[in-house]
Amino acid sequence: MAYKAVIGLEFHCEMKSHTKVFSNAINGYSKVSNEYVSPIDMAFPGTLPIVNKTCIRKSIEMAYILNCKIPEYMEFDRKNYFYPDLPKGYQITQFHNPVGTNGKIEIDVNGTKKTVLIHDIHLEEDAASLDHYYDTSTIDYNRAGVPLLELVTEPCFNSADEALAFLEHIKSIYEYTDISDCDSKKGQIRADVNVSIMDENDTHFGTKVEVKNVNSFSNIRETIEYEIKRQSELKDAGKYNEVVQETRRWDDEKKITVHMRSKADAIDYKYFTEPNLPRYKITKELIEDIKKDIPNLAYERKEKYMKEYNLNDYDSSVLVKNKKVSDYFEECLNLGADAKSACNWITTRILAELNKSEDANIDDLFIRPNMLAELIKLINDKKITNNQGKEVFAKMLEENLTPNEIVKKYNMEVIEDDNLIDNLVMEVINENAKAIEDYHNGRTNMLDYLVGQVMKKSKGKANPVQAKEKMIEKIK
Ligand code: ADP
Ligand code: MG
Repeated sequence: MAYKAVIGLEFHCEMKSHTKVFSNAINGYSKVSNEYVSPIDMAFPGTLPIVNKTCIRKSIEMAYILNCKIPEYMEFDRKNYFYPDLPKGYQITQFHNPVGTNGKIEIDVNGTKKTVLIHDIHLEEDAASLDHYYDTSTIDYNRAGVPLLELVTEPCFNSADEALAFLEHIKSIYEYTDISDCDSKKGQIRADVNVSIMDENDTHFGTKVEVKNVNSFSNIRETIEYEIKRQSELKDAGKYNEVVQETRRWDDEKKITVHMRSKADAIDYKYFTEPNLPRYKITKELIEDIKKDIPNLAYERKEKYMKEYNLNDYDSSVLVKNKKVSDYFEECLNLGADAKSACNWITTRILAELNKSEDANIDDLFIRPNMLAELIKLINDKKITNNQGKEVFAKMLEENLTPNEIVKKYNMEVIEDDNLIDNLVMEVINENAKAIEDYHNGRTNMLDYLVGQVMKKSKGKANPVQAKEKMIEKIK
């Protein structure tokens, strides 16, 4: 039987900032454990937290973008529990008055618009991380106190596609606003995935299962699909009482979810207002100031590309999907490249190059925007042909040389010298009497053959337009 799935997400994302959210230790990644740690992160007695202003601003910015209600004061709460990765015995988070509540945002799901309802967004600190060995576990406090934004949606998704479209949308906003890179390889994202199913015509939701700490978009998709299937099969088999409110986890090796704890084991966090952080007034002026700094987001850049540069919907979407790619494109234009050519090169050759390896980054590509602009200029100025352009592109990557260096090294400049082309055309005419006769007898495609011969003699360097004009002129 087909059921309707209902999904709600709690999406945690580590923020970018110089220092941690409540201490002045560096917020960064290190292969060395416990390198970026201050006494505050270690909860030494007598230490007090100081809140990071950048994190406050960025959390308000995100709340604003998500059309949330923003409270009068920024304030924090303690979530009390014991775990080895939490030296204070509590996490500083926002519970009673999160920085954003009751938001909504429109997303595109495979071409259809959908409004996603945001329950709240709150700022909190990450815990330390545990490394488990054969018979020992160690604690690495580098992550303790790293700023986290947690975004909680209403149960408003009905498929993995919808949930993933939302996450991609949020990721794009985080990237464009420089709030986070959302890099799952660096462990920057984690989601609690809540899934329930109900009969098509039911008016109330089914019992939900929460899958904790799923740590990549692909695993989130798999989790949702697995849970829908698992719960549907239980219901189909009449095992209604086996779909219970519980917390599970995703086992990525076996590709299944596994029971962790049931509702009866739910922890009482005994939330109360964090007394060591005075509340911070969120004034109208502050919000106005933050609004001024919100950059153009992906959909705004896309609109601009379509309107101002006449690029089509598809190409514009491809360009803005990744902010770094979009920045690269804009830099090419700033350097004088024309939009259509830059778009063509980036959406085909450059992205193909990046797609060759999984974690390729456009910033690491040898071809910088100034080189692409140089290549485009060579072609548009007819110094080299389009086909030579492709060759130059490939050679740039092979030899780490600029377009002009490649053109020089391989002597690729187009021959535009009238006399030279004249001579080549005459040579070809003299050697191809039969072809020319055929041409005059109506086999017009012989013209292409003859021009091809000129190109061959010039090793591809003759200006093909000029060669064709000359050939027509001589044999007509
Ligand atoms: P809890 O009391 O377990 O914390 P909440 O109602 O606060 O549950 O919701 C936590 C998350 O679970 C939210 O993301 C919400 O959208 C989602 N959720 C709530 N009810 C359901 C349901 N019936 N099916 C799927 N997700 C749900
Ligand atoms: Mg939380």
